[in-house]
Amino acid sequence: MNRPDFTLSAGPVESWPEVHAALTLPTMYHYDPSFIALFKETQQKVQRLFGTTNDVVLMQGEAILGLESSARSLVYPGMPVLNLVQGVFGKGMGYWLRNFGAEVHEIEVPYDRAVSPDVVDDYLSKNPDTELLVYCASETPSGSISDLEGLSRVAKRHGVVTLVDAVSALGSVSLDVDSLGIDVCVSGAQKCLGGTPGISLISVSDAAWSVIRNNPEAPKDSYRSLLDWKDKWLDQEVFPYTPLVNEIYALDAACQVALAEGMESVIERHRKASRVARAGVEAMGLDLWIEDSSALGSCVTSIALPERISHDEIRTSVRRDYGVMISSGQGAGNFVRVSHMGPTATLLHPILAVSALGRSLVDHGMELEIGRGVDAALEYASSIRE
Ligand SMILES: *Cc1c(COP(=O)(O)O)cnc(C)c1O
Repeated sequence: MNRPDFTLSAGPVESWPEVHAALTLPTMYHYDPSFIALFKETQQKVQRLFGTTNDVVLMQGEAILGLESSARSLVYPGMPVLNLVQGVFGKGMGYWLRNFGAEVHEIEVPYDRAVSPDVVDDYLSKNPDTELLVYCASETPSGSISDLEGLSRVAKRHGVVTLVDAVSALGSVSLDVDSLGIDVCVSGAQKCLGGTPGISLISVSDAAWSVIRNNPEAPKDSYRSLLDWKDKWLDQEVFPYTPLVNEIYALDAACQVALAEGMESVIERHRKASRVARAGVEAMGLDLWIEDSSALGSCVTSIALPERISHDEIRTSVRRDYGVMISSGQGAGNFVRVSHMGPTATLLHPILAVSALGRSLVDHGMELEIGRGVDAALEYASSIRE
């Protein structure tokens, strides 16, 4: 099959040319002093992107490994845990937490909304023995975000340890791990950083390390072990196993691109791209799947479809007929998602995605004013250009 003309799906996303170039460098021996220096510099770059002085572990596998490993490391059988569910990843985390033996309570809302920090505050006041609060900062499968500041304030007030899925939040919302007081923050390079899906980025606070160290169930001598990375690499500079050398080159390059631009500018670029997409979608006569504007994120735009047109069918048609890869609703509902992450968080990529989508919907019998949508998106893009 031919390659896509444009990859505007919800991740992995198109990666930066600097990342491709880095991947092609010759593989080095992992104890070469030059690789050790690079590995440490990459860790420091991730710390800067996270806004943290906490330890950073670069675990070898896409972000799901980091999320599973963090949850396994923190949770002991019977641990009282509060899990917030406003999307597919929050839901999946709940299955893991129960599997690992936690006593899980969930606050769940429809996936086009965000959990209110007040409800969390109320629960924690009534259940002061809760030890861990888990949530997803940006639900990529539906395009919603959490109230990070509000949830952090509540977590601090009640002194609970926090585990946050920030995979698509890093680069699309303001995420300052230390000022938010996030204990374990997990992200990846393959979303807003425009890197490749090979390494989990995990920051771990001292408080989280002590929970993990006191947990007899925390994995040790295992590929999933955070403690191995702490005891062997962070404390003794011995790798627990051979690092994915070229993936580290790629991660370093993706971090470098973000740091050279500046994280605030990266976030602003994602915000602007999402506004362009919304302007186009609404003027064309389509509806955003998320109505509550405070819950709208900037990494993907979710567009509601009429019941008679299936999201999977549209995703296939847009790719086949117009060469653009977008995403379907991934189990959250009948909608499609266009992403604007990494190198595609520009003013024009969302217009391309929205016009290809619009035309495909017209092909399926909908009446839309594609031209009006494109005009409105361009008008908005023009009004915010620098
Ligand atoms: C992408 C993503 C993950 C990790 O999933 P993979 O696609 O397997 O890397 C986890 N959580 C969120 C919110 C994500 O967007």
